[in-house]
Amino acid sequence: MPIYEYICTACDTRFEALRSFSKADDLISCEQCQSEETQRAVSAAFAHSGGRVVAGSSASTGCGTCSGGSCSSCGV
Ligand SMILES: [Zn+2]
Repeated sequence: MPIYEYICTACDTRFEALRSFSKADDLISCEQCQSEETQRAVSAAFAHSGGRVVAGSSASTGCGTCSGGSCSSCGV
């Protein structure tokens, strides 16, 4: 089961939770203040492997596997 990272917008706390993929975007309570004003953050693993985050990258740029342009050919 993957680990997801969440950030609480109420108290700015980041926390991680083990959840199944289908529940990744379900509501989760902050472990610090119990607020449900939380959102899923990009996981540490993703951040480290990428080095940079490009918003909407899947739509217009390559993925690293393909040489750029479109990912429709490489299936990523
Ligand atoms: Zn909180």
